Amino acid sequence: MTFNELGLNELLLKAIETTGYTVPTEVQVKAIPAALSGADLMVSSHTGSGKTAAFTLPSLSRIVERKPAPGAGPRILVLTPTRELALQVEKAVKTYGRHLRWLNTACLVGGAPFFAQVKQLSRPVDVVVATPGRLIDHLTRRKIKLSDVETLVLDEADRMLDMGFVEDIETIVAATPASRQTLLFSATLDGVVGNLASKMQRNPQRIEI
Ligand code: AMP
Repeated sequence: MTFNELGLNELLLKAIETTGYTVPTEVQVKAIPAALSGADLMVSSHTGSGKTAAFTLPSLSRIVERKPAPGAGPRILVLTPTRELALQVEKAVKTYGRHLRWLNTACLVGGAPFFAQVKQLSRPVDVVVATPGRLIDHLTRRKIKLSDVETLVLDEADRMLDMGFVEDIETIVAATPASRQTLLFSATLDGVVGNLASKMQRNPQRIEI
């Protein structure tokens, strides 16, 4: 299997070439075409499996073809449990989105100055990567709107739940459109993660690696 067979937009394939990856990993082979089809996904995956590209590439590919409406809020929202993971995901978005010249990202994490983040949000932003607590701060103070979110990604959902973010996640999900696509990645898919998924996903495809 090659990246060319997964259905990604050519601007993303061009970016993959520069990263030097030759073959997609198992999670990428399974998740990318399914995500491109617009389906909700529940994916069991670990750090090191290539999961970041598995959700970033199809999400970016889907927004390439349609320009945002003027004044639109972010179209891709990625929630992560930690600041470090959020920074890594934002870096990956910039790497895979390097040929999308118009692409703007913002990383909203705790421990970083709030007003510098507000400044980032004063221009149009296509992709937001955030930890739940800090995103709630921005939502409460009406510094961000989530009504244009097309793809919501929950990265390491089990860790977010372990860290007590369930209410924050539910508040955030409620602020996004019901028509969104929801991609959930987690080491485990059962128990509390399954409960969360059943509340926010429609007929999710289950992908176990
Ligand atoms: P992740 O599981 O997303 O944390 O990714 C683990 C590492 O694998 C990262 O350093 C990626 O840059 C790298 N990676 C992702 N996809 C591929 C691929 N198809 N081939 C080689 N390396 C990859």
